[in-house]
Amino acid sequence: MAVRITEECISCEACAPECPVAAILEDGHEKNPTDVFYVKPESCVECVDHADAPRCAEACPTEGAIVWDMPYTTDFNDYYASKNEEGIYKIREHKKKGLMLPEVKAQKFIADISMADRESASNVQDF
Ligand code: SF4
Ligand code: SF4
Repeated sequence: MAVRITEECISCEACAPECPVAAILEDGHEKNPTDVFYVKPESCVECVDHADAPRCAEACPTEGAIVWDMPYTTDFNDYYASKNEEGIYKIREHKKKGLMLPEVKAQKFIADISMADRESASNVQDF
């Protein structure tokens, strides 16, 4: 991923239209495993090459609704694979390539965000 939407989300719909890669699904969407809005980790690029900061967090009115997650890179392949099994994520299954985990297709991420801030799910708006 990248960024993750938490239970603080009030489903206001402000974030999804701002995403340059259409990575955000509304609640109730068949590919959304949560009951709030959801960022597809296999699609989110942390807005790298699109904006200076995550556009979803800039649009979000709710403190703590969008937090940092781990980079979508091979280093975190097991992290995403296990959380996908747990049902926390619903990673896309490609007909030929299988599950689109980081080892199949890694994504860009903002290198300046520390691993400590990612592990502690810090509020994206604080950066
Ligand atoms: S950080 Fe950028 S790419 Fe990722 S979900 Fe938010 S708007 Fe989309
Ligand atoms: S902008 Fe924030 S509160 Fe609104 S739907 Fe997106 S994550 Fe939820």
